[in-house]
Amino acid sequence: MEADLIVTYLTPGHGVRKAYAKSARKVKSRFGASLEPLTHARITLMGKEDAELPRLTQSDIIQPHQGLREGLSCFALASEMAELTMGLLPPGKPAQGVFDLFLEMLGQMERDCTELGALLYKIRLLALKGYAPRLSGCGRCDSKAARFFASQGAVLCDRCSGGMDRRGTIEVSPGSLRLYESLSTWELDKTARIKPSEALLAEVRGLLDAHLEFILARPLRSRAFTSKTV
Ligand SMILES: [Zn+2]
Repeated sequence: MEADLIVTYLTPGHGVRKAYAKSARKVKSRFGASLEPLTHARITLMGKEDAELPRLTQSDIIQPHQGLREGLSCFALASEMAELTMGLLPPGKPAQGVFDLFLEMLGQMERDCTELGALLYKIRLLALKGYAPRLSGCGRCDSKAARFFASQGAVLCDRCSGGMDRRGTIEVSPGSLRLYESLSTWELDKTARIKPSEALLAEVRGLLDAHLEFILARPLRSRAFTSKTV
């Protein structure tokens, strides 16, 4: 039915789950505004525990995150965070850590919607899921190295990368390494103090995009969108 909707949720207990919301698009839908994108809601699903498409029977808003939907560029950044999360999580597995991080960062982005915030989220998500790129110390011999090979997910020294194709590899500057490490490790409530230059931000973003494209084996759809609107 055209009025029905398939909604994708990030849940702490079951990771990414889809649900079928009957008549959700009708004006008098009982779900009201609770199905707006990026809404934090308490939901009830009907169907077997492992049902592929359980039916949504109840949905109550906990936090609407209205602010994230008001500006096009902010919505694009938050959508990119959501898309990457769905791309990296195996279906049906508990995801408490990712859920907590995502919720915390949506709140932070609603207060101050910055590209840096979205970047921080992606960096920490990768680390949580075991996909963090290796940016210091050659990925093979641990000696000094600064050239990032997306195909290896790591920087490699000249000796270990001898004979390898260097097209598309990225030189990791000391500044971008420091920025990456700050974004990975600082307490979240202190990260507002990180104020990188545009150039440095672009460097780290480029590095992360190259890494992600290789991991996901496709360009992120909303990245192209964000590049145009931000
Ligand atoms: Zn090496």
